[in-house]
Amino acid sequence: MPYVAPVKDMLFVMNELAGLSDVVAYPSYAKAGADVDLAPAILEESAKFNQDVVAPLNWPGDQQPSSFKDGVVTTTPGFKEAFEQFAAAGWQGVIHPAEFGGQGLPKLIATACFEMVHSASLSFALCPMLTDGAIEALLTAASPELQEQFVPSMISGEWTGSMCLTEPQAGSDLSMVRSKAAPEGDGSYKIFGTKIYITYGEHDMAKNIIHLVLARTPDAPEGVKGISLFVVPKFLVNADGSVGERNDVHCVSIEHKLGIKASPTAVLQFGDHGGATGYLVGEENRGLEYMFVMMNAARFAVGMQGVAVAERAYQKAVQYAKDRVQSRDLAGSPGPVAIIHQPDVKRMLMTMRAYVEASRALAYYAAAAYDAQHAAPDEAVRTANQAIYEFLVPIVKGFSTEMSIEVASLGVQVHGGMGFIEETGAAQHYRDARILTIYEGTTAIQANDLVGRKTVRDGGAIAKVLSQKIAETEKELAASASADAKAVLKQLTVGRAAFDEAVAYILVHAKTDTKAVYAGSFAYLRLSGLVFGGWQMARGLLAAERLRDSDPTFYKTKIATARFFAENLLPQAKALATSIIEGGYSTNALELEQF
Ligand SMILES: Cc1cc2nc3c(=O)[nH]c(=O)nc-3n(C[C@H](O)[C@H](O)[C@H](O)COP(=O)(O)OP(=O)(O)OC[C@H]3O[C@@H](n4cnc5c(N)ncnc54)[C@H](O)[C@@H]3O)c2cc1C
Repeated sequence: MPYVAPVKDMLFVMNELAGLSDVVAYPSYAKAGADVDLAPAILEESAKFNQDVVAPLNWPGDQQPSSFKDGVVTTTPGFKEAFEQFAAAGWQGVIHPAEFGGQGLPKLIATACFEMVHSASLSFALCPMLTDGAIEALLTAASPELQEQFVPSMISGEWTGSMCLTEPQAGSDLSMVRSKAAPEGDGSYKIFGTKIYITYGEHDMAKNIIHLVLARTPDAPEGVKGISLFVVPKFLVNADGSVGERNDVHCVSIEHKLGIKASPTAVLQFGDHGGATGYLVGEENRGLEYMFVMMNAARFAVGMQGVAVAERAYQKAVQYAKDRVQSRDLAGSPGPVAIIHQPDVKRMLMTMRAYVEASRALAYYAAAAYDAQHAAPDEAVRTANQAIYEFLVPIVKGFSTEMSIEVASLGVQVHGGMGFIEETGAAQHYRDARILTIYEGTTAIQANDLVGRKTVRDGGAIAKVLSQKIAETEKELAASASADAKAVLKQLTVGRAAFDEAVAYILVHAKTDTKAVYAGSFAYLRLSGLVFGGWQMARGLLAAERLRDSDPTFYKTKIATARFFAENLLPQAKALATSIIEGGYSTNALELEQF
């Protein structure tokens, strides 16, 4: 089943929910040539490229994954050529500054483009995704010299980036990083250590790989405050910018995985032959702080991977449900009909569709907040949007990825037995989606972040701002006379109350009953995703009611899907609030030896 990029849905969200016209008017984006007409043109081009070039590589990537022999990683046939085309067309540079060769366009536009490449192939898209994160970290913290040396060739796609955090003993807890960095006295360092699970840590798709590596200098304090960030190229770079000598960083193996098989996941050995040359990014001991910039970009992007793979699984399920003939229609039919006539199949398809649309809308809304944070002329607007974006990142990551597993699993279910058979491809989406709740911080780590840094630290201030925004949408729903708006209003009000109750409980008990509060952190993340997703769907309903006459069929789908979300998915929020408030005791009740 070929992938068809949902450009019309994306533009609806961008225009009606994420405020595209405001975003493109920010001076730096306007200067880069952004306007409301550019967005559809770029999205159409991106759709064409990803449908025609990348999507056909998805299944071969699963069947013929990247391989490793004698220190060399060979990617799936076709990946290298596709990446060359990706780079030549400028897709790596959409969001990055023009002075380094990028296009300087808003994250909102780049997010839609990235959704498409992830839908086309998660394995392929991981390479530009990590390169993006590395570029962002360098632009945030590296010296102008390092930026000049590395960033332009990464934006042009000649070189790619990797993110080297994880070590055998340091996964979720990066304070345990042990890799060493010894100063050489000439401004450079020698890096020693082992990094595991490094996505595109080695491959044959680019001339150089720029590793961003966490390591400790000799006198660094223990824990997170003693970690520094280094840029360690696979090949050293000559003074004229050309690729020089091989650096002492080597791939010793790649992993065999459940999914995303075409993306090489490398074990990298730094410094086995005297030390890998690295350059400090920013100041010593502030590495984790810088890496958080990269991780925030990557966490948001992984959330988009969730939306993307769920969209692809949905499209496949719809096609199968229309083709597969089985059982009569409940309302009576002369013979068996396509399974899409069965209400339970519709339930599955509507669930898939509603989750995808809500998660997309929330992510694009967050992307617009990021754009306002970076480009709005008014400082107060920038500050307010930074807080909103940072609050939403763990939700976009955690909720969208958990949702993608549920959606891909429903995709298998819609296919019946054929879903369990590899050839249909439904199983690949399910296997591919499974990593998304693990890397870039597991869902638990996102949920802890949402409770601790995002809710408790500011005394619930941003949570209250967002709740207030939902209340404003409720007022608009109340002003609409339609039965759909009334139905959505009823559930959104209950959902918001559940969110408010959960926040109030967390704020009161975080210090006194910490373990009980954190026992509910996953439920709080899920509740937040449902309520904020439901809020965006409600805003979508209001927009669709306004625009209905211009395209009745399209807007009817928006209204019906928003109502479905409100009536069938959002009600979980209330149960989740109960679990947050009352479930902590039993979660922690057993002693360790009772397990
Ligand atoms: C395919 C793949 C690609 C990857 N790519 C990269 C990459 O490019 N660069 C990179 O640096 N790393 C990468 N990783 C590593 C990935 O980020 C880690 O696997 C992930 O952060 C989890 O760490 P861990 O595997 O050590 O699990 P652990 O940290 O051992 O976690 C095990 C379990 O304990 C839970 N847990 C741990 N701590 C807490 C806590 N404080 N609160 C609640 N629960 C907790 C976790 O949620 C999880 O369920 C990749 C991993 C895979 C599998």
